[in-house]
Amino acid sequence: MELVTEAVAGRREEARHCAWCGRRLPDSSRIGRPRRYCAQPCRQRAYERRAAVQRGGLPEDAVVLSSAELADLQDRLFQLRCAAEDIATAAADGAARTELHRLADELVHTARGLERLR
Ligand SMILES: [Zn+2]
Repeated sequence: MELVTEAVAGRREEARHCAWCGRRLPDSSRIGRPRRYCAQPCRQRAYERRAAVQRGGLPEDAVVLSSAELADLQDRLFQLRCAAEDIATAAADGAARTELHRLADELVHTARGLERLR
């Protein structure tokens, strides 16, 4: 149990995401300010969105998340992936039915947490 927790904590630490599209950013060992976007088009769209917000010209169906809300959502998505990977690993290792059942319950619990957008 402790081992699983440590593995999840390790994976969580390395998770950095593009501030526009949410894709995982490659681990960067570069010195200096960490990159915020995965590519130039994402940087450009983020700039355009900021400009639109400032003009008050957002489309009616726009969903605007604060960067803290987005980070929280990405964190929960990452937890979901970790929970799914834990089941896949346990199944591949021939885990007992009760263990798979416990992991499946955890996955359901984590997925429920994702129904909340903010
Ligand atoms: Zn991106």
